[in-house]
Amino acid sequence: MNSFDIDSLLRFTPPEFLCERCFALLTDGTPRCPVCGVQYVATGAFTDYGSYFVARGLDARFDNLIEHSRRLAQIAQRTRHSLAARDASYPPMRGLLESLLQAEHFIHFTTYGISALLLGAIKMAALRVDVRGVISGIKHDTLYRELTEHENESPRLNVRLFQNEAQYFPHQKIVVIDGLMAFKGSANLTDFGWRKAAQGREVIELVTDVGEVTELHNRFFSPVWASFQPAANDDRILMTV
Ligand SMILES: [Zn+2]
Repeated sequence: MNSFDIDSLLRFTPPEFLCERCFALLTDGTPRCPVCGVQYVATGAFTDYGSYFVARGLDARFDNLIEHSRRLAQIAQRTRHSLAARDASYPPMRGLLESLLQAEHFIHFTTYGISALLLGAIKMAALRVDVRGVISGIKHDTLYRELTEHENESPRLNVRLFQNEAQYFPHQKIVVIDGLMAFKGSANLTDFGWRKAAQGREVIELVTDVGEVTELHNRFFSPVWASFQPAANDDRILMTV
């Protein structure tokens, strides 16, 4: 008989909020961001932290967390199997596309380069959910214009182009779906990279441990995202409307 202790559900407490300044996943309910250090201060408008983040659209609470998690876990399981068995019937690209389709709150990613095909998929996902990405290695060409113009076509897509030296860009590439699941590895967001992974010539791993997803996200996405912002004068945010 399969064994599963429902007690473990009580320990399933994924991050519910995102930092307003660096979009770190906030885990422990303390009003200080562990990544950028900003402190959230209660005011007459908001005395509690949770309602402030909900009002700002920076929450990741789900109508049915268990069902949503099951769907993502199924994608991860099928993708892992296909990578291990070189099963062409469910290539990693399909796992990526399906997870973009399943996202309910946000998608965050880092990549060195991006293909037009995957940018199109991401723009489509950004019609429903917030998509934030840090992209390195983009030259001033057609793709650069695609990423820096036409913002009204997909207003919830927000990308930051990392123009510094490539060696300062994290080698670890990630795509995080709702803070519940992540793809990590060496493959960039290009169809070439993801199809190479199907043949074992590029690394993509699936992460479904929520603690590890948070750690990856807050280590490889938020600090790079925050590096685009000028240093703040104040390390506090007053929780007002
Ligand atoms: Zn922060």
